Amino acid sequence: MASDTPNKVSGGCLCGAIHYDILFKDEGSWPPMVATCQCNMCRKWTGSLVSTNLIVKKAQVSPAWPSFTTLKEYQSSPSSKRAFCSGCGSGIAWFSDDMPDEVVVFVGTLDEEYLMGKVIEETARETEHGKEFERAPAYGRILADSSSAGNLYWQNAVVGITDNLPGPKFLQHFFDKVPLSESVE
Ligand SMILES: [Zn+2]
Ligand SMILES: [Zn+2]
Repeated sequence: MASDTPNKVSGGCLCGAIHYDILFKDEGSWPPMVATCQCNMCRKWTGSLVSTNLIVKKAQVSPAWPSFTTLKEYQSSPSSKRAFCSGCGSGIAWFSDDMPDEVVVFVGTLDEEYLMGKVIEETARETEHGKEFERAPAYGRILADSSSAGNLYWQNAVVGITDNLPGPKFLQHFFDKVPLSESVE
């Protein structure tokens, strides 16, 4: 894992029409806040059992979200919207009226370079299992670590599969609630 603080990480949609940078220049912006969610809406929208979500200030994102021509928004609840690429369907971000200064970016859209590390081509070799290679240091362990903000909709966890995530667990949303791990032994 890379030990330094990155100036930025980048990410985008599958077709490449949306590509963003998230800047970590301001003091206190690194490590970022990370939450997971297992609500029914995140599941339907991402097609994944767990969504891993980076919570950052809108001002940290460059260019600003509305500048992408393929970006469309779906009003998923009265107070929140989900932004996706209309070209390829990738779900990118979630916005809520309750968090007007923040945007929640889906960590799976981050680029390989920052999430897992660039493949070092010179290290590639064929094995009986397939191609093995080493990667350059990256930030995935921090960018996906829900210890910072916690895990939402724990009531929907698939026992034995999605119930082993780091950080506090919340039965539903975390606003004004005590995490499960602090109230139950
Ligand atoms: Zn796209
Ligand atoms: Zn959710």
